[in-house]
Amino acid sequence: MSAETRDVVIIGAGPSGLSAARRLRKAGRSVIVLEARDRVGGRTWTEHIDGQMFELGGQWISPDQTALLALVDELGKETYPRYRDGDSVYIAPDGTRTVYSGEMFPVGESTQSEMERLIGILDELAARIGPKAPWDAEDAAELDSISFHHWLRQQSEDELACENIGLFVAGGMLTKPATTFSALQAILMAASAGSFTNLVDDHFILDRRVVGGMQSVSVQMAEELGEDIVRLQQPVRRIEWSETGVSVSTDELTVSAGQAIVAVPPNLYSRISYDPPLPRLQQIFHQHQAMGLVIKVHATYDTPFWREDGLCGTGFGASRLVQEVYDNTNHGEEQGTLVGFISDVNADAMWALDEESRRTKILEVLAEFLGPKALEPRVFYLSDFGAEEWTRGAYATSYDLGGLHRWGPFQNDPVGPIHFASSDIAAEGYQHVDGAVRIGTATAERILGEKS
Ligand code: FAD
Repeated sequence: MSAETRDVVIIGAGPSGLSAARRLRKAGRSVIVLEARDRVGGRTWTEHIDGQMFELGGQWISPDQTALLALVDELGKETYPRYRDGDSVYIAPDGTRTVYSGEMFPVGESTQSEMERLIGILDELAARIGPKAPWDAEDAAELDSISFHHWLRQQSEDELACENIGLFVAGGMLTKPATTFSALQAILMAASAGSFTNLVDDHFILDRRVVGGMQSVSVQMAEELGEDIVRLQQPVRRIEWSETGVSVSTDELTVSAGQAIVAVPPNLYSRISYDPPLPRLQQIFHQHQAMGLVIKVHATYDTPFWREDGLCGTGFGASRLVQEVYDNTNHGEEQGTLVGFISDVNADAMWALDEESRRTKILEVLAEFLGPKALEPRVFYLSDFGAEEWTRGAYATSYDLGGLHRWGPFQNDPVGPIHFASSDIAAEGYQHVDGAVRIGTATAERILGEKS
């Protein structure tokens, strides 16, 4: 067991941990980043599968995500827009396929106006409540005690409108059934993206990608920090702490430091042993932040054939196994790539199948959206963060019903010298890479005494 001493020890080399390290180094503090995996980037992971580059994890940037955009720029990296010329496809619950243009699903006039009305209500709530302290709203407890599913049905009797609006947060973002998280949690998601209107606008929310892949942002930050600072394959097992400092141990290394930043997703906080134990409050609420589950489907074809049919590759169908499909062709490539998402209970059902049946079922839905050519990809791959020991789900963690207003006010509080930084407890950029960059930097600034 070797021993080292630093000003600050950071646990986790995802975008939040690396952003914190970068900020602290800039201020001249000595740091070390201990990462469990044999790679940096956490939930951002750019990998070649059968010769094809896929973004297995986080990839898109929206225009409001200015902290990430500034970082990408500072690192000298380029971004490019998602391909979106042409029509989209909507599949109704009865299986009817409609090709449409514009933002609104082709659902009939009254459902359309009901969806617009619901979006309007949610926009007002998101603007009033905001992303920073949603628990402070006067109706926070009320909105946090009802599921988003039931709240929508209190607002509208139009089942299809509720189903479609629910999709944007449930399958689309929190990757949990809308019955399992609160209306307040859904409003936070919208507020963190600027508005509910932004959330339902795929042109906004899925705007740009990083040339070379999102993981390269973390890889470059780690390279700048150097191997003496970023240590791979060092899962942190134990934090001994007092008011004056910490002693953080992996299987091979003990680091003594004045402060620690735990930059891992909240569902993994309790995989670390704390001595003395964390206070009662943290021990309880850390159990109420749970990962969602989504399968990210990748399929690459010889060409982006859908474009020849005048389609942009975007497909929506709240009742389908794959609820969303997009053109995910990499920058400068001739071959075409689709990405799709299979969320929560549908993901459970897919993992219960054997590999061949799973592939067949998924490709059949892609073909429903974009035609029979979708049945024969050159490369097919499913991201499986649920099976990753150091993530255990996707995309991120959220509270169960009632948790956000009860424990949210404490989620950013340090415990003695132990600070917590994760995209999942960020305000702007909540559950996104941008939020990770913001909270990593803000936590470093708090340690530097630049932020309260
Ligand atoms: P993480 O990225 O999870 O990093 C935490 C790090 O801590 C990991 O490297 C982990 O290995 C390490 N760790 C855990 N426990 C320990 C331990 N005990 N000791 C040492 N190290 C430990 N965001 C977007 O902005 N746009 C998207 O398009 C998008 N799509 C996504 C798609 C998928 C499939 C997934 C999974 C996520 C997606 N996200 C997206 C979310 C985004 O990737 C995350 O918000 C972001 O990576 C969070 O950064 P983080 O540093 O807070 O946590």
